[in-house]
Amino acid sequence: MNKSIDVKFDEQHIWHPYTSMQSPLPSYPVKSADGVRITLENGTELIDGMSSWWSVIHGYNHPVINQAITEQLSKMSHVMFGGLTHRPAIDLCKKLVELTPKGLEKVFLADSGSVSVEVALKMAIQCQLGRGYKNRNKFVTIKHGYHGDTFGAMAVCDPVNSMHSLYSDILPKNYFIDAPKSKPNGTFNLAELDELKALLQNSNEHIAALILEPVVQGAGGMRFYHPDFISGAKAICEQYNILLIADEIATGFGRTGKMFACEHAKITPDILCLGKAITGGYMTLAATLCTDKVALDISQCEAGVLMHGPTFMANPLACAAANASLSLLMTGEWFEQVKQIELGLRDGLQACLELETVADVRVLGAIGVVEMKKAVNVAEIQKLFMQYGLWIRPFGKLVYVMPQYVISKQDLTSLTSGIVNTLKAL
Ligand code: PMP
Repeated sequence: MNKSIDVKFDEQHIWHPYTSMQSPLPSYPVKSADGVRITLENGTELIDGMSSWWSVIHGYNHPVINQAITEQLSKMSHVMFGGLTHRPAIDLCKKLVELTPKGLEKVFLADSGSVSVEVALKMAIQCQLGRGYKNRNKFVTIKHGYHGDTFGAMAVCDPVNSMHSLYSDILPKNYFIDAPKSKPNGTFNLAELDELKALLQNSNEHIAALILEPVVQGAGGMRFYHPDFISGAKAICEQYNILLIADEIATGFGRTGKMFACEHAKITPDILCLGKAITGGYMTLAATLCTDKVALDISQCEAGVLMHGPTFMANPLACAAANASLSLLMTGEWFEQVKQIELGLRDGLQACLELETVADVRVLGAIGVVEMKKAVNVAEIQKLFMQYGLWIRPFGKLVYVMPQYVISKQDLTSLTSGIVNTLKAL
């Protein structure tokens, strides 16, 4: 018998992300998802513009990833990673070392993006201790950033967006510099590096690392900035022996048109965080990579080891999904797909610029952003999008999409024309 879904229970008992329990936004029950489509319990089919928050790059219900997980399931779904290892983890880490910028050799497999950021921050502090810097336990980051919801990660998120005021006595205090304004395809204003230069000159004895989202700042405002900021910042950090942590949890695996956004700046960070699309959005897994030098210096610190080891570290099912997802990427097809999506988004969203309510339209790789002049009413606008058969979840003033790489030209056109028509109707 097909039992009806208990949405009331959901509403009364289950937290959803950043949602009030008192007056929650609607949560639509999903029955299944396949390719670029999400099917609701009531039979409505929606083209997914969100890739489930950057992660489902190859589409839902992908036969190759399904098969990899099923095969792994029949062998083992999990074993502890302390004192044991396994083929899925080794295969995955080989691929990660091969794919990521040259010089990143050591891999820590974590269980979510936020945890991989925590690991990166700890790596940086322990590395500096290993180098003999006793007080380097703070971080520099750029305003409007987002790095996750755990305390360490939150402490390097934009202080206003992530409401640091709520946690003022418990959150570690870090350094926030102005976010670069030069656009990725324009000329870079060198003066944007001055604040970092001055800060590192004056306070380097307290600073372990600079952490940033290269080229695209995601949940902190969907801002795009010039890659020369990153190469310039890396050079300044090197002068003071300060590490650069690149958080590519959102931008990694082709999303910006390069396999990793750091490649736009032609740099290798000292530490790199990956997540989201690593498993093709099948399950939670993340990775923190670092250079040999960082790993060696960590081993020189008092602990002698990296102080982290989660229960589900290197979960074999997640590693199997990631191996399959990365094999799909390694065919290289993504490159042309992302290029076509970029063209389609540029072309399709351009009409938004003519709307009185729109402040800016920007596209990079397979990311399209329409910034409104005022914050949108999420519940209301989502209903309108759904009338066009679209799943889009804006936040604040930002209506944005990052479609799956496998989206067809026709579905991409439905997505962009649905956005234009919805915004016209507001
Ligand atoms: N860093 C960035 C850049 C992210 O976009 C996110 C997730 N939105 C995170 C970290 C945190 O990842 P997770 O939600 O998997 O903990």
